[in-house]
Formats: sequence, C-alpha cells, structure tokens
Amino acid sequence: MYSIDLSGRHALVMGVANHRSLSWAIAQCLHQAGAELCLTYAGERLQSTVEELARSLPGVIVLECDVTRDETIDAVAKTLGERWGSIEMLVHGIAFAKKEDLEGAFVATSRDGFQLALEVSAYSLLNVTHRVLPLLEKNGGSIVTLSYLAAERAVPSYNVMGSAKAVLEQSVRQLAYELGPKNVRVNAISAGPVSTLAARGIHGFTDMLKKHAERCALKRNITKEEVGKAALFLLSDLSSGITGEVIYVDAGYRMMGW
Ligand code: NAP
Repeated sequence: MYSIDLSGRHALVMGVANHRSLSWAIAQCLHQAGAELCLTYAGERLQSTVEELARSLPGVIVLECDVTRDETIDAVAKTLGERWGSIEMLVHGIAFAKKEDLEGAFVATSRDGFQLALEVSAYSLLNVTHRVLPLLEKNGGSIVTLSYLAAERAVPSYNVMGSAKAVLEQSVRQLAYELGPKNVRVNAISAGPVSTLAARGIHGFTDMLKKHAERCALKRNITKEEVGKAALFLLSDLSSGITGEVIYVDAGYRMMGW
C-alpha cells in the first residue's frame, strides 16, 4: 500500500500572497499530509494576510523573505536551521514583473524591468536553493517551482514573464543534474491559468481563462487544488524517480494540436 505521510518532514513554502495563491493550495495539501510548514511573505504589506492564513494551520512558522534581499533568505535558513535542523521540501511559487512590462510591447521591455523579472522569477530559485542547501542535503529533499506554458510558446501579454519562465525551466534541469548526487530532486509544475493576484496582472487574463477552457481536452480550467495535489506528489516519495521534469497541470491544453 502506498500513502503520503509527510509527518516529521519540513517544508519551506515561498510565495503565499493570499488564499488564492497556488503556494497556499500546496501548503494546505502538505499540512494535510502531516508536514511541518514555514510560509514566507515578501514584505510587511502581506504580513497580516499570511499570518491570518497560517492560523488555520496550527504550528506553521511565518517569516519574511524578499528574494531580492539575500539577508532575508539567510535569516530564514538560520531560523529553520535552529528550529528544524533540516528541510526536506522547498516550494518556489514566486514571480514578479513590472506592470508596464506586461502591458506594452515585448520589444520595448526596459533593461531594469527585464533584470528584475528574471531575478525575482528565475534567479531566486537558484539563490534560495543555494542558501538553504545545507539543510536540504541533510536528509535529501524535493524542490518544486511553478512555471507556465509561455516558457516555450509565444503567449500574448506574457512578454518578459515568458523569458523568465524559460530560464526557470532550464534552471530546473541544470539544478536537478547538479543536486542529484545529493539526493535533492528538482521539478516544475507548468500550471494552466488560475485567477490569482499575479495572474490578474497579465493583460487579457480573463480572455485567456476562457480560451483555455474552450481548447483544452478537459473543457474546463484547472483549480489551485489540482496544482496542490500534483505538488504533493512531486514533493513526496511517490515521485522518488522523477527529477528535472516539467509536469503539466493544464487540463490537457499543451498536448492539443490547435
Ligand atoms: P500570487 O498569489 O500572486 O503569488 C506570487 C507570489 O510571488 C506572491 O506571494 C508575491 O508576493 C511573490 N513575490 C513577488 N516578488 C517577490 C519577492 N521579491 N520576494 C518574495 N516573493 C515575491 O500568484 P500565483 O499565481 O499563485 O503565482 C505563484 C507562481 O505560479 C508564480 O511563479 C506564477 O508565475 C506561477 N503560475 C501561475 C499561474 C496562474 O495562472 N496563476 C499559472 C502558471 C504559473 P507579493 O504579492 O508581495 O509580490
């Protein structure tokens, strides 16, 4: 019999902004499976919302972490080293691009807008992994990041975020290769569109949801809970032979020929 029991395992979950966040759906699945959790929030603006959510999951640690500030990542690693001693699961659900870079022409993306989007949405996967690696390699671990089809296809308005997702997916493969000998697995979930704070920053997102539901095999949009369940699989031993992969949770959109 196979079951998912994550009791005694520790998960660092980054990217919870509110109850709609994909990282929040993943956190809920991990909690139900018995994992101990730490949620991080990016700035004071989100602190009370994330703390409020965390109260519904007893025992959850809440810490600030802005991935553009290395000292906040190191502070998280230090606190979790002292509290837990190891991390077995890392969820990277972080992305950001300037509003003007998601609205205007891709060709006009500013240098600093390009750098910021890639730093927050892709480089942060490497940087966070590097800084928590001493904790991750203790017992071996599993890392999951969140991507989107714009990594490999041209998607209207996705602009620089598509560039960031392409780099993110390549980073998954390179990290998986490098960390494999340490028994740390790295995978991405490429999710179909879900209405979240970040997604609503994409110009024409509502139209994207409609088109997706019309064209995909299952004829509906995915739910954040479906992303949560796929992450639970990738973070648990049920997926122990899988690393360096992008798993599509998109209701059968990508595989269609139209
Ligand atoms: P979300 O709830 O808005 O989550 C995005 C998170 O990234 C927020 O918590 C945000 O915090 C955080 N973030 C931004 N800048 C940060 C920084 N400097 N340091 C730390 N955290 C930072 O939206 P979501 O849709 O769940 O996004 C999660 C991931 O899923 C993203 O990588 C997104 O690209 C990916 N994804 C989403 C969809 C979708 O349709 N929703 C589909 C495929 C992939 P702030 O709010 O403070 O900026």
